[in-house]
Amino acid sequence: MLKTWFETTLWKRIMGMLVLGIIVGQIWGEGATSIAWLGDVFIRLIRMVVVPLVFVTLVSGIIAMGDPKKLGSLGARTMGMYIGTTAFAIVIGLSLAALLQPGAGVDLGSTSRDLPDTSTLGSGIASIIPTNPIAALAQGKMLAIIFFSILLGAGIMLTGAKGKPIATLFDAGSEVMLKITHLVMEVAPFGVFALIAGMVGTGGITKLFSVMPLVVAVVGGCILHMLIVHGSIMKFILKLPAGRFFQGARGAQLVAFSTSSSSATLPVTISVAEDNLGIKTPVASSVLPLGSTINMDGTAVYVGIVAVFAAQAFGIHLGLAEYVMIALSTTFVSIGTAAVPSASLFLMATVLQVIGVDAAQTALVVGFLFPFDRPLDMLRTVVNVTGDLSVATAVAKWEDEFNEDVFRAAPTE
Ligand code: ASP
Repeated sequence: MLKTWFETTLWKRIMGMLVLGIIVGQIWGEGATSIAWLGDVFIRLIRMVVVPLVFVTLVSGIIAMGDPKKLGSLGARTMGMYIGTTAFAIVIGLSLAALLQPGAGVDLGSTSRDLPDTSTLGSGIASIIPTNPIAALAQGKMLAIIFFSILLGAGIMLTGAKGKPIATLFDAGSEVMLKITHLVMEVAPFGVFALIAGMVGTGGITKLFSVMPLVVAVVGGCILHMLIVHGSIMKFILKLPAGRFFQGARGAQLVAFSTSSSSATLPVTISVAEDNLGIKTPVASSVLPLGSTINMDGTAVYVGIVAVFAAQAFGIHLGLAEYVMIALSTTFVSIGTAAVPSASLFLMATVLQVIGVDAAQTALVVGFLFPFDRPLDMLRTVVNVTGDLSVATAVAKWEDEFNEDVFRAAPTE
């Protein structure tokens, strides 16, 4: 039995345990929270890997590029794709919300929620440069870590022969961290089981039924975005089989679904990128950590829909100018959202204020959405991670850091 277990591909094991989690959660009810620690163990294990993995693989990835000029084109392509796909996500979200009218006639009740102060959003550009890289690593400040790692990698690359020993060290370090990630992933099926059982047991999913139109808009938007935008990137732009892409991404999607955090999923995202999608380390280790921090297609779909939902619920008329304002602020929110559960919900104020929803009304909207945010968050995190992988595939192909045979072969994880 143990042999069959280890011979089964990881995504199948995760999927099986996810289904089992739903069944157990349904039968056990609230009692399923007693195994919450198991989910916690899994999340702690993958979070543990994130910082060292990103640091060493990014530095070694930059060195492996071998040409500083490549860094510029890789960066430009990545950012262009990230912004482009987010724009599509917003258009899809806003169109669906305008069509389905999820907020029409909704009574937001009186369950308001305190919101964090978001006034500092957008003023954080300078903070990307860490004054103390060690502190940035210790605090897990992803953008600062990325900034320093790129510089360090470029520095080692430019040093040439003298930098070779340290280049070898980072190269070996990245192999080791990927190995550790694989080991940690063996815990994934059990962690996913506990997380899902707890969620189903506490009634998280059933709460969704009370807000059907909103749910239909969010679920529809997320699925459409993956099929139309990510699918088209594969099929029409890269001329690759879209089905293979989704199969290869499956392992990361399942972990994203269970953890609701693209940052916790990152080690898995990097490993499926390399093992299943043929994305080579220089691209996987740079594009994916950046994506998990700033590229959130699912979040963009969601935030756009909620903005229109709130306008409809408060009877605010939205003209073209308002839609444009929503789109712009949603872009910033999806960039600024932390890659952790329910993060975007608490940044909603930034978008809502541009259409004249005040702080008290925003607190009402957030209070109303909060009880069933988790299942929607699970879905948007899947889309966030899929978006990162689709952009990484495109950039890898354009930058010649792509192994098409691996992409076309049946996924190994
Ligand atoms: N949970 C999402 C993520 O980590 C962020 C959000 O939309 O709340 O990708």
